[in-house]
Amino acid sequence: MKNTLVILIVLFITYGCKEKNDTEVVKKDLPRIAIAGLAIESSTFSPALTHEEAFHTRVGDDVFSCYPFLSPDSLNKKRAKWIPTIRGHALPGGIVTREAYESLVTKTLNMLKKNMPYDGLFFDIHGAMSVVGLDDPEGDFIIRIREVIGYETLISTSMDLHGNVSKRLAQNTDLITCYRLAPHEDALESKKRAVDNLLDRLESGKGKPKYKAWIPVPILLPGEMTSTRIEPGKSLYAKVAPATNQEGIIDAGIWIGYAWADEPRNHAVVMVTGDDKNKVINTAENIANSFWDVRSEFEFVAPTTTFTESIEKAIKSNKHPFIISDMGDNPTAGGAGDVTWTLTEILARSEFKSKNGPSLIYASIPGPDFVKEAIKIGVGGTIDAAAGAAIDNRFAPPIKLSGTIEAIEHGDKHAETEVVVKVGSVHVIVTKKRKPYHKEIDFTRLGLNPRKTDIVVVKIGYLVPELYNIRADWIMALTPGGVDQDLNRLGYKRINRPMYPLDKEMKKPNLDAQLIPLSSYISKD
Ligand SMILES: [Zn+2]
Repeated sequence: MKNTLVILIVLFITYGCKEKNDTEVVKKDLPRIAIAGLAIESSTFSPALTHEEAFHTRVGDDVFSCYPFLSPDSLNKKRAKWIPTIRGHALPGGIVTREAYESLVTKTLNMLKKNMPYDGLFFDIHGAMSVVGLDDPEGDFIIRIREVIGYETLISTSMDLHGNVSKRLAQNTDLITCYRLAPHEDALESKKRAVDNLLDRLESGKGKPKYKAWIPVPILLPGEMTSTRIEPGKSLYAKVAPATNQEGIIDAGIWIGYAWADEPRNHAVVMVTGDDKNKVINTAENIANSFWDVRSEFEFVAPTTTFTESIEKAIKSNKHPFIISDMGDNPTAGGAGDVTWTLTEILARSEFKSKNGPSLIYASIPGPDFVKEAIKIGVGGTIDAAAGAAIDNRFAPPIKLSGTIEAIEHGDKHAETEVVVKVGSVHVIVTKKRKPYHKEIDFTRLGLNPRKTDIVVVKIGYLVPELYNIRADWIMALTPGGVDQDLNRLGYKRINRPMYPLDKEMKKPNLDAQLIPLSSYISKD
């Protein structure tokens, strides 16, 4: 509310008087702000590749549909002349092909060249993209944007807290922020903050922040250990918002980083921006030290064990639905999503062989050929075909599913076509393309009722809010895959060492704030 008032006053002072005389002048005075960005987290430990179409790019004015806070009648929309270019958002997956990356970057740069110059640029990224043969793609992308738009334009970057902030990304952006909640219930709020900060700095004439403090924190943890719903993540992230309320501080962020890519930039980072040198430095160092102090307290957000123990516990339990996270191949973290290992283990168990066994939903396994075959046979027919392991067959081969087709649905954005096949007492969801099952409606639209099912196995890590709310009990299974949660099994070669907790006994690192030069002074390397 206070912010809105300030904005209104600033708008009035800036434009209110002129408006009466010459509307054209007013329009020219509005800052010109471009929008660009690519978002994906991609695992270098998965054999999967991500291609251009996975980014479902929005181009030009379609980009606004990503941002309700830039809707036609929003205050923010009226505060600037917006020039959206390309915004792409892919489901997490395998490494992005070089062709896809170059194509998307080139298209963005070409669009940027058409409408120069810019006062600002809203750079909306995730920060954990991996590209074949290229380190730190987001750092590369922003440098190539700078080469086009120059170093005077104010860039405000919005990121996922599982993204990585390399030094060159920190140098080339002026403002930077990231989510403060995991699960990311504040995603839109964070993007809006990036835009609000950008507009405030442009309208006030303050421009680039005087200081940017960057502290690499040598900690690398899976997201499943760093939920902000529980301690110590909860208290750690609770320090961020009050820190930004200080006079002289613009924003602060804690990046957990992304554990499933093997690059030197993969580690936690704390960053603070502002105009008061001492406060910027002290705030960053305080947060970084708080993070280091609680490093040994991070634990998985739910009981975590082997798959065998998980399924045995679920079968014996009288709490239903009992949800099991099949974590190792979680497509929302970057797994290929077609590992059949867990489903193979389930269907091999005697409990599920008969129709009267414990009811279980398995969500999900991609199998385009299986889906084609199911469409030919139709609902009610019996099918005997294989699915899965087309991309990641390191742990189990394609799985034979013999059962009754209970549903076929078309039209989902990600899956395209979904088939439910009943094998013994198990409902298996087979999709044409991989899709995460996060919402109750993902199940109910297929005629499945997760609330009335004994066991629900989902390729997921920590539960998203809807599933969390319907669970009677929950366990996270340490299954194999491209996003194996047991980081010791991944075999890193290129991350910085020592790194906590891989090097448990490491000494306290240097957590002094590094002041990053303003973007206009940077060199390319
Ligand atoms: Zn995230």
